[in-house]
Amino acid sequence: DPRRFTQIDATTWRIEPTGAMRVPAVIYADEDLIRGMDDKVGVQACNVATLPGIVTASYAMPDAHWGYGFPIGGVAAFDPDGGGIVSAGGVGFDISCGVRTMLTDLAVADIEPVQSRLADALFREIPAGVGSRGAITLDTVEMDRMLTGGARWAVENGWGESRDLERIEEGGAVPGARPDCVSERAKGRQRHEMGTLGSGNHYLEVQAVAEIVDRDAARAFGLAQDQVVVTIHCGSRGLGHQIGTEYLAGMPVAAAAAGIALPDRELACAPINSDIGQRYLGAMRAASNCALANREILGHYARRILRDFFPEVAVDLLFDVSHNTCKAETHTVDGEPREVYVHRKGATRAFGPGHPSLPDALRAAGQPVLIGGSMGTGSYILAGLASSEEKAFGSACHGAGRALSRHAALRQWSGRGIVDELAARGILVCSPSARGVAEEAPGAYKDVGAVVLAAERAGLARRVARLRPLICIKG
Ligand code: 5GP
Ligand code: MN
Ligand code: MN
Repeated sequence: DPRRFTQIDATTWRIEPTGAMRVPAVIYADEDLIRGMDDKVGVQACNVATLPGIVTASYAMPDAHWGYGFPIGGVAAFDPDGGGIVSAGGVGFDISCGVRTMLTDLAVADIEPVQSRLADALFREIPAGVGSRGAITLDTVEMDRMLTGGARWAVENGWGESRDLERIEEGGAVPGARPDCVSERAKGRQRHEMGTLGSGNHYLEVQAVAEIVDRDAARAFGLAQDQVVVTIHCGSRGLGHQIGTEYLAGMPVAAAAAGIALPDRELACAPINSDIGQRYLGAMRAASNCALANREILGHYARRILRDFFPEVAVDLLFDVSHNTCKAETHTVDGEPREVYVHRKGATRAFGPGHPSLPDALRAAGQPVLIGGSMGTGSYILAGLASSEEKAFGSACHGAGRALSRHAALRQWSGRGIVDELAARGILVCSPSARGVAEEAPGAYKDVGAVVLAAERAGLARRVARLRPLICIKG
């Protein structure tokens, strides 16, 4: 019951442990967002708090909404030495779904004369939609190389530039991937899907910097008013879904065998130090590499297409960060540094200034945190804050979050109507699926401005710039 939440300050809400909860549940949001939030977010955050080995608290970000087992916008860390678990539902089905933003040296005025031709070219050349196939086919040897090499593998094969790598989480390749823990079925689903956007809310957008909120951070990030940027949101495609599905099916048995009582079957999990736990982590890291490789390839395609229009254009990766992950990281727990497994499901890693994992050029400003809004309302670039470390293991929101279900959105809008309405406002939307566009209507999402303001007030990340869409290629 979310009414059990006690308000701690303007953007912090808390439920003390009751029943089987091992730690409190904490939601970061302002009062309006809390009122608009699905009741299930509180219930799910409390359910997560019952899982073995959880440390400090079960968190929900300001964009949180109901999800499978764990809320989307949920963050929870588990101690492997304290019986901690890993959960496939705590990572999400689209393993390592994430966002990259690339900076160009173009201004809005450069795009306007070619906007419609550029939209057509992007739509023609970026495979999008359910079951779309890419130009790349992987044999079994290359598949395993991709699953261990991630974006590094993509760059080695000519899809991308080596200077991109330091701007990608983990330098472009997640260590500890185990292709042998990925089923043939999962690999089979990915054979023709590299360099494809997928469906639903995945997108490639050409955007303009509409507002600079923090001048110093914007300078450090290389962002200026009216600058054109390209943002890509997608994940590990069929491979990640298949891994999620298969391990999710195996985890209830593992949980029962370990004597873990689950308040909700959807929270199926396994001890980190168990065979299936280790196998899932190996497979999940392989899927992360698939997502990193996929975004690097799509970024390469976007560069190539932009260069057809602007041969001299510079396209530099600002950052690439995932928002569906489980990572072994060192955080301060009970005053001591400890290695814990941080699940971020629909939550972005948001490391603050000085973090050793950041490249030199970003170290003083903090990690770029890339936030989708909607195809009609715009998006944000934030910077991680040191305070996020003690607030939520260095995490922040990942989007606006849904206000309406896909089903409810379909009842309210038509794809054609949305496309026309946005075109009248200078935003060109191209999608193979009119139904998909209706499901993703801007009105189906929460107010992204309110979400990022709440994230900033809660000390999770600070706003650097707002982006407005010019072209949206939608899956
Ligand atoms: P998710 O990772 O949960 O699938 O989506 C992340 C966020 O992306 C959503 O919460 C939503 O705010 C945002 N989003 C969905 N569709 C679009 C789009 O077409 N353009 C932009 N800029 N953001 C979107
Ligand atoms: Mn996503
Ligand atoms: Mn996704």
